[in-house]
Amino acid sequence: MDKRENLIEVRNLKKFFSIGDNTLKAVNDISFEIKRGETLGVVGESGCGKSTAGRTILRLYDATEGDVLFEGKSIMNLNQQEMKAMRRNMQMIFQDPYASLNPRMTVGDIIGEALDIHGLATGQKRKERIQELLSLVSLNPEHMNRFPHEFSGGQRQRIGIARALAVEPKFIVCDEPISALDVSVQAQVVNLLEQLQEKMGLTYMFIAHDLSMVKYISDRVAVMYLGKMVELAESDALYEKPLHPYTQALLSAIPIPDPEVERNRERIVLQGDVPSPMNPPSGCHFRTRCPKAMPECAASAPVWKEVEPGHFAACHLYN
Ligand code: SF4
Repeated sequence: MDKRENLIEVRNLKKFFSIGDNTLKAVNDISFEIKRGETLGVVGESGCGKSTAGRTILRLYDATEGDVLFEGKSIMNLNQQEMKAMRRNMQMIFQDPYASLNPRMTVGDIIGEALDIHGLATGQKRKERIQELLSLVSLNPEHMNRFPHEFSGGQRQRIGIARALAVEPKFIVCDEPISALDVSVQAQVVNLLEQLQEKMGLTYMFIAHDLSMVKYISDRVAVMYLGKMVELAESDALYEKPLHPYTQALLSAIPIPDPEVERNRERIVLQGDVPSPMNPPSGCHFRTRCPKAMPECAASAPVWKEVEPGHFAACHLYN
């Protein structure tokens, strides 16, 4: 069991959006911790609430209910000034490096803006710090006067990472940082994030839509479905012995490189589409697609339970 202290604690977090007369329960009562220096992978299909969870934890969205603690202190009621100071600790890397960089600003100014907001460096020191940050993400420091369109997709994601690192954060939400990149570039960006984590003691929440993407970077992995967390475990335990039928289905969809194993294993194909988060099924939200659904799954929601030490699941098979 990991004895490191908690950096982030998420307590019964909810984020609902009103859409007309309906309520979209994007994040519906999730609780977990992220330890200092850890990478927590968060996985689920689009619309499961993983990105909204990341943004609500950083207070880019105001939570509907619940709490988020950073180093043991709630950030939910911080005023604007206090939150500005807190933002130095908590940063975000976005999925789309094209959309998240201002095309009219030079790379030096994109990174320098973060330094300016927090008053961290001016003049020659600012220039040196920008160059240092570009080197840190393996970009040429001489290119600080170039514009985003002059870089490749992978390089632009490195610029996004340098911008996040400028304020020396402790915690970074990486929101699908490799999904938009070519497969050949994905591993390079993951390797860079791992090297930076080691060097700077960073803590990551790494959001992805597929379990294969988070396998190598995550210490623990959480799986979300329609606003709920359905399973959370150490990576090895989750990949070797997934408890929740949804996790089992997601894992069975990942190809295994060994042709013999690949030929003989059972693939669980989920029936139907993800139901609308506006109107999720009663009881267990996964029951309309679950190959193991039982009558009680429609009657009541399964409780979130520590089934094995450090291995949590919400499923009536274990309640
Ligand atoms: Fe399937 Fe029932 Fe478990 Fe939901 S609670 S995952 S429907 S077995």
